[in-house]
Amino acid sequence: MSAPTTATYEVAPEVKSFVEKTHHLLIDGQWVEAKRGQVFKVYNPANGEVIAHVAEGNAEDIDLAVKAARRAFEEGPWRKMTPSERGRLIWKLADLVEQHLEEFAQLETLDNGKPLTVSRAADVPLAVDLFRYMAGWATKIEGETIPLSVPGGNYLAYTLREPVGVVGQIIPWNFPLLMAAWKLGPALAAGCTVVLKPAEETPLSALRLGELILEAGFPPGVVNIVPGYGETAGAALAAHPDVDKVAFTGSTEVGKLIVQAAAGNLKKVTLELGGKSPNIVFKDADLSVAIEGAANAIFFNHGQCCVAGSRLFVEEDIFDDVVSGVSEIAKRIRVGEGFDPATQMGPLVSETQLRRVTGYLESGEKDGAKAVAGGHRIGDKGYFVAPTVLTDVRDDMKVVQEEIFGPVVAAMKFSDIREVSARANNTVYGLGAGIWTRDISKAHALAAEIKAGTVWINCYNVFDAALPFGGYKQSGWGREMGHAVLNAYTETKSVCIKL
Ligand code: NAD
Repeated sequence: MSAPTTATYEVAPEVKSFVEKTHHLLIDGQWVEAKRGQVFKVYNPANGEVIAHVAEGNAEDIDLAVKAARRAFEEGPWRKMTPSERGRLIWKLADLVEQHLEEFAQLETLDNGKPLTVSRAADVPLAVDLFRYMAGWATKIEGETIPLSVPGGNYLAYTLREPVGVVGQIIPWNFPLLMAAWKLGPALAAGCTVVLKPAEETPLSALRLGELILEAGFPPGVVNIVPGYGETAGAALAAHPDVDKVAFTGSTEVGKLIVQAAAGNLKKVTLELGGKSPNIVFKDADLSVAIEGAANAIFFNHGQCCVAGSRLFVEEDIFDDVVSGVSEIAKRIRVGEGFDPATQMGPLVSETQLRRVTGYLESGEKDGAKAVAGGHRIGDKGYFVAPTVLTDVRDDMKVVQEEIFGPVVAAMKFSDIREVSARANNTVYGLGAGIWTRDISKAHALAAEIKAGTVWINCYNVFDAALPFGGYKQSGWGREMGHAVLNAYTETKSVCIKL
């Protein structure tokens, strides 16, 4: 495999003009320059060229954004709005994103590199669904009445669910718009105000979303968007003494820094972190489905998924068949520029990620792993890596223990369910898992044993706004999506009246 496929493509005029303009910070309903006047560059990962310049937020800008969010929370029209009015605004935002689906899809492909077919079919529609699902919750966040057993009194006791307050949200680059939706949807449904920091690699769709947030009519200060680097803007947001809660998605390493930064005012923290998810194929599985599923589990979004099925456990009798099936798929995947309609896998997001992933490939080779498909970079322009299947790996190798966040799967044999259950749990992570079998008892028994926030049986990478998502162990704290996420954005107040 040499050069990736390339295509000459026309970006829609509205995308071109949006990308080319000067991008500012959204603070208190206004687009403003960064206080220090700095800007950073945004690159097209398909060719390494600069595509946009974006105002670089720093601690001063974060402080202004937090003040705006605080004012909007305490004094602004937001807190006087009825839940139904809040829900309508979120629904309107969903409609606006849907009306601009093609524009968002192109922006995402330009900025992140993923195939346009994927941005169109997954990223943008899932973001729209999430906003609609959360819009519905705005009117359904309820307390309870609680019967008390205190002797000698007659009491009425009830709980109120109140918004937690000003929320800082820090998101990654793998699903830029969708991660913004996962964070903003529940916060807004609960009545919080937000300072959102997009990833420095992919700030464009969040900035376009900011324009639609204003168009939808959200009051000033309810959503503030401050792009910038993690060590500066992100760290300032996580440490800010007037932020009540921080929600973070990204690496486990940075997740630990967020927890430390949050300790100053003991703000609430939710974390959605890394993974090294086991994908387990039994010999009684429907192999044609399982092989396709195992390939999708790792290669979807170029393996840049926190739930990527990066450890493929195959029952020994069928190991060769499954490995050769997944390898055949890997070799057939069309790697190229995201705008080429034939492309099935785009470039990795950045040069840093390219170096990380190829570094893991070298480490695997040094430790004795064998690449039966891929195992190398493709071309010398853009950040393309060939879909890779590694065999001859051991559980203690770096490529088996650490999150690679690229299209690299390590395939291993197992002989029985007890063994595979122990090995599946043998990493610091616990985000996702896959099980492929026709034996329903075995599937349920193993699902119960696996320490992971999501277990998929005879499927993988199925996401729904209604289905809670999050991690055991070092894969995170709390859950996103479903009604479970609303706990993260509300405080429960008990009110007790002596009658
Ligand atoms: P990262 O964790 O460094 O970055 C994620 C977000 O956190 C970005 O917005 C970044 O600006 C911000 N950030 C970075 N340092 C910060 C700090 N000290 N304080 C506050 N915010 C900070 O992830 P990355 O460097 O983009 O990728 C590195 C690795 O992280 C990947 O290879 C992958 O393993 C993992 N990752 C996981 C996810 C996920 O969805 N779980 C997403 C992206 C990356």
